Amino acid sequence: MYNAPTEDKTLTAYDSYIDDQQRRAIHNARDGLAGVRVAHVNSTATGGGVAEIVSSLVPLLNDVGIETDWLIMDATDEFFDVTKAIHNGLQGDRREFTDEMYETYRSTTVENANGLDGSYDVIVLHDPQSLGMAPTLAEQRPETALVWRCHIDLTAATPAFLDFVRSYLDPIDRAIFTLPEYGKEITGPRKAVVHPAIDPLTEKNRPLDELSDDAAEAADLDRYPFDTDRPLVVQVSRFDPWKDPLGVIEAYRDVAGSIPDVQLVLVGAMPDDDPEGIVVYREVEEATGDDPDVHLLTNLPDAGINALQRGADVVLQKSLREGFALTVSEALWKGTPVVGTNVGGIPLQIEDGENGYLVEPTDISATADRITRLLDDDALKRRLGQRGRETVRERFLLPRLVVDYLGLLSDVSRSNVDP
Ligand code: UDP
Repeated sequence: MYNAPTEDKTLTAYDSYIDDQQRRAIHNARDGLAGVRVAHVNSTATGGGVAEIVSSLVPLLNDVGIETDWLIMDATDEFFDVTKAIHNGLQGDRREFTDEMYETYRSTTVENANGLDGSYDVIVLHDPQSLGMAPTLAEQRPETALVWRCHIDLTAATPAFLDFVRSYLDPIDRAIFTLPEYGKEITGPRKAVVHPAIDPLTEKNRPLDELSDDAAEAADLDRYPFDTDRPLVVQVSRFDPWKDPLGVIEAYRDVAGSIPDVQLVLVGAMPDDDPEGIVVYREVEEATGDDPDVHLLTNLPDAGINALQRGADVVLQKSLREGFALTVSEALWKGTPVVGTNVGGIPLQIEDGENGYLVEPTDISATADRITRLLDDDALKRRLGQRGRETVRERFLLPRLVVDYLGLLSDVSRSNVDP
């Protein structure tokens, strides 16, 4: 277990994104939660949505006066093979859960729980990777409230994997889901719903003219292998079968039938805890063949992602299953219209025809049709993009998430004192 580094952040910098109600909630929390110590635990410090959220949330909770640490599990590739299989099983993949997998999971999570130093009033365990620490933590720290923050859509979970998760929930005081239906099969802990959010001040999301000098270089789209004067469709996602990169390529080919100069950029990361990344990357590489207008970019700095989400004519999020998809809010915030699939948290962010388009996950021709409509109509693109930015401003910015966490923390720390 090690502490992930975080940047210093202050809530005052977010002032223009905080409304009066949120301001009052933050003010009250400063008194009510003074002295409360919190740890967030997950399995990677970089790549993927959880790291993105926690890296911004932790410094702001500290700024409110809640001593908050961000801890990363120590784990081997073998453990991550198991936890990715669990992730896939929870998203509906019908694979077997073997005794060997169970043993790898159990031993690593127990070791990490034993290796957790420091004293905390609340420990937030993110996703299935760290959930297995709960029984050991509960035994060793009966005074600590344990929260499980599940970022995954569990609505189509394979039963063996759901049972596996359920077997760890006894010591959990609160289970947090992105949508109420994700937790409908979960019984035991009290449940709450918290929508994720993006940080408008990071190098990934701030205006390009406010980037640091180093970051500005990565944001110069002329450095990249595509032509900024031609139509550009972008998907930013881990190389993961659930993000359907092969479906993205099919949709692009369909679009290219009517708009021959269209270009596709797939931006992908391969976080430590996602062993499938390289395998999927190779499949995608093969599927692109020698098409000079399809570009696969990996490990882009945040400012590069920022510039691409802004420079794209259309951002695509063609997931087959999705927890939330921060990438949708990231693009909408930049005024770029998004064509997203009608799965998981995407319809929470996109209202079809209002601030983007929703398509059914396997409907390639509808996907291509919506992309084409947007590429053909600048006024439509602008209108949807502007509304998208408003959606994110109202509902998916970091200060709202901070307030949600403050509510949660006062709730769980109070119920531990006064059950
Ligand atoms: N991301 C990134 N580089 C990449 C691909 C993704 O920084 O090459 C980021 C992306 O901008 C977003 C996060 O990883 O902030 C992905 O979060 P999301 O909720 O969309 O999906 P997850 O990976 O958690 O399934």
